[in-house]
Amino acid sequence: MERADQPWHRKLHWRIILGLVAGLLFGVLAAAQGWGEFTADWIAPFGTVFLNALKLIAVPLVLASLITGVASLSDLRKLSRIGGKTIAIYVATTAVAIVIGLALVNIVRPGRFVPEGMRNELQAAYAEDATSREAAAESAQERGPLQILVDIVPDNFFAAASDNGRMLQVVFVALFIGIGIVLIPRDTARPLLDVVEGVNQVVIRLVDVIMLFAPIGVFALMAGTITSVAGDDLGRIVRLIGALGAYCAVVVVGLLLHVTIVYGSILRFLTPMSIGRFARGMAPVQLVAFSTSSSGATLPVTMERCEQELGIPEEISSFVLPLGATINMDGTALYQAVASVFIAQALGMELGMMAQLTILLTAVMASIGTSAVPGAGIIMLVIILESVGVPSAGIALILGVDRILDMLRTVTNVTGDATVATLVTSMEGTLAPVEAPAT
Ligand code: ASP
Repeated sequence: MERADQPWHRKLHWRIILGLVAGLLFGVLAAAQGWGEFTADWIAPFGTVFLNALKLIAVPLVLASLITGVASLSDLRKLSRIGGKTIAIYVATTAVAIVIGLALVNIVRPGRFVPEGMRNELQAAYAEDATSREAAAESAQERGPLQILVDIVPDNFFAAASDNGRMLQVVFVALFIGIGIVLIPRDTARPLLDVVEGVNQVVIRLVDVIMLFAPIGVFALMAGTITSVAGDDLGRIVRLIGALGAYCAVVVVGLLLHVTIVYGSILRFLTPMSIGRFARGMAPVQLVAFSTSSSGATLPVTMERCEQELGIPEEISSFVLPLGATINMDGTALYQAVASVFIAQALGMELGMMAQLTILLTAVMASIGTSAVPGAGIIMLVIILESVGVPSAGIALILGVDRILDMLRTVTNVTGDATVATLVTSMEGTLAPVEAPAT
């Protein structure tokens, strides 16, 4: 199966867009007609199957490709150099995202547009949901500063590999095994490497196979999301967006600015990658991120497209991308900054310079700690709110529109990972000149 030059592969993103738009229209129609139950029973499961298939191959893909990648490094110092650069760039771009969010939310002040009646209504309607998010945040709050380090090293390989939420542990195990392979004689390592390389090839091909079903999966995910957010009452979501329109607009404009200006400039001025080739290569990844709201589930697609379409070598993509999916969430950080100031504004609280600085620091940490799954960003938002003394129950104000913003911030998150992977590759001087497929 020759993939990159096959017609279905070239047209992939158009077919996914078709699925997405059709799913959107069907979801709106289903909500308007009261077909919520039908959609949940007969349409949404196809989305779950697509999502599960992607998640299914995430751990084997990261393990196999990272072991192969590290084992192919002749010099282990290269690994620490790439690691240092990657983490520094990840943190820097996240900080920039937060600054953009804070600047916009302070200029526009969307909190003043929420009428008092609506505020009370929202707080009453989402009080229960907000309490469950606060409870989820509690365990994260009790962790010591070095807990993240402890969490990276699993005490059991199978436990780590059986939980998609422990991707950092899988990365650690793969690095560790890869290092072991480099340290033993090549001849002794060969049989093991052959197996791992074989697994790697198989999994990469399976991403292609799963992506054949992406249009159907995306259709079902979109239809299911819309009916579950709107229930059988489309008017509710329209009213919510009306009341929280200014807040949503600030988040969306912030994300757009970050993607176009920050990522655009990185690609344009710091790498030889053309924006067109990057956009074409990343379109299916962004569409899958949008419809799944999970950078973790999108990871196999991100890795496959970065390697095949952007020319990023496996030794970099297999390390930078899983790490990015777990710790680099610029979209989430930007949203968390906007949301925390918005909630304070809506509750009539003024946040001074010190508080905003605290938001900057805690949002960097919170976005690193956010899991790559739908809705994780709002749980970590509780921690940011508490660090600046804003009642965390205030998240009730924004819960109604969170899923929509989640989709957009996840797109930003995966785009950021690929941008940094491109930058690191270009800094290493190993960006492969892949011809962009015609669309
Ligand atoms: N859904 C986001 C992601 O997976 C995380 C979040 O902001 O909730 O990237």
